[in-house]
Order: sequence, then structure tokens, then C-alpha cells
Amino acid sequence: MPELPEVETIVRELRPRVVGRSLYEVRLSHDDVLRGVTRRRLLRGLEGAEVRSLGRRAKHAVFDLGDRRLVVQPGMTGSLVVHDGPLSPDQKRYAVLSARLDDGRRLVYRDVRRLGTLLLLDQRGWQAYDRSIGPEPLDPAFTAERLGAILAGSRQAVKKVLMDQRRLAGVGNIYANEALFAAGIDPSRAANRVGADAANRLHSEMRRILEAAIASNGTTFRDYRTGTGDRGNFQLELFVYGREGERCKVCGTRLVGTHLIDARITVLCHRCQS
Ligand SMILES: [Zn+2]
Repeated sequence: MPELPEVETIVRELRPRVVGRSLYEVRLSHDDVLRGVTRRRLLRGLEGAEVRSLGRRAKHAVFDLGDRRLVVQPGMTGSLVVHDGPLSPDQKRYAVLSARLDDGRRLVYRDVRRLGTLLLLDQRGWQAYDRSIGPEPLDPAFTAERLGAILAGSRQAVKKVLMDQRRLAGVGNIYANEALFAAGIDPSRAANRVGADAANRLHSEMRRILEAAIASNGTTFRDYRTGTGDRGNFQLELFVYGREGERCKVCGTRLVGTHLIDARITVLCHRCQS
């Protein structure tokens, strides 16, 4: 699933092309991506609406439409793209949500397996949703002390806590694996036993990695595409994620993969992480 850097990349690329534009001829191919909104209410809410701003919260792209917000969480096979001309048959095939912009371009949410979700929230709904998500790790106000307090509040594995969106926004499996490796922390360690020094390292390494991933337009393993339809490049800079069985780039030890921490693959170096 696209994480913070991938969604941030999409939002930054799309922003100049959609802000100030109005949406027309809104179409939805399938209802199964909708959460808490009916097809009728979604289409009625979007038709003619002007995009006031486009931002990101956690792993969601958030279109501010004035009195409501369209929240798009791209799934593993999802992408948001603005097309200059009419859609090709292939582009049409997996277009879940599409709208003509008033400059003639087309905004398309494409999702091959429809694993993403769409929400349309009024102001109160948005505020409640926003409050249910943890702090943004790249927010200047997100200090090492704040991360330390989050970790101190849980006995769960530190990796699970990093990925829990109610505690921290935007970090998923790729960047949790990478940040824990860079900070030299065993992902299975209880969060409340990480300690202040390691929490400080984790804070700075996590922010450094998220920034670097944004600079590389995110990580593309399979389907993720940026807002201009290109692949990201951060997969070339990964140290552990996707490298199970390969040699650690730091110490040469063979990297180990495990599913024992959560349902996802965790890859670690037993020598570099303790
Ligand atoms: Zn190592």
C-alpha cells in the first residue's frame, strides 16, 4: 500500500494541476471502494465542486472541496493521475473514479484490484477522522520526546506501534522496516523497552528516510505510480525491505524474514539490530 512518501509524491505532483479546478462528469465504476458514503451522495457531492486545496494526511490524499472533503486512500494497486487528453481503453478499464476538470483534463483514480477507499466527509466528519489518526512524523512539532512517549505507552512490538495509524500517521511496512534497521532496533522489541537513546535515533532515522523517499518519488514495487504516472525510485535505496535472504549492505550478514511480528513480512539483520 502506498505509504506517506508515495502519497506525498502524488499530492505534490497533482496539486498544481487540480487546485482551483472544478469537477464535472464525475463517474464511479464500482461502489465497493466507498466508505460511509453512497454512490448517489458521492456523485452529487463532487459534481461541480471546486478543489480549494489538496493535501495529505497519513496515507490519504485529501481534496478540500469547501464544505466537504474527498479522502482517497490509494490501495496497493491504486494511483491518482491527471490525464491531458481523453482516456485510452486501458486507462478507462481500471478507472474507478474519474472527473473532467474545467480545463479539459481528466482526474482519474485508477485501482486494478480496488483495494483503495474513497470517503466524502463534511467538516465535522473530517475533524473526527483527523483526530482519530496519530501525529505526522514530518511535522516540525513531532519531536523525539513525542515519539518516545508513544513508544513508552505500549508493550506491543515497536514495529506494530510504528505502523498503528492511531498512534503515528503514514508509516507502513516498508518504512517501518527501513527505519528500524537504520536505527539498529530489533522490530520485535517491546515498544516500551526501546529506551530514550534508541527512540532518539529512531526519530531522526525515520524522518531522514521518509524525506529521502519523498525526494526519490517513493518506492515502486509493482503498481505504485506517481501523480504523473512515473515509477518511484526509492526501491533502489532500501536496506532491508524486499531483501530477505540477501546480504546486509552494512555488515554482510544474511537478512532474515519473519511473519511472527504481524501479518506482514519483517526483514531484519540480526547483527545490526538488537
Ligand atoms: Zn547488518
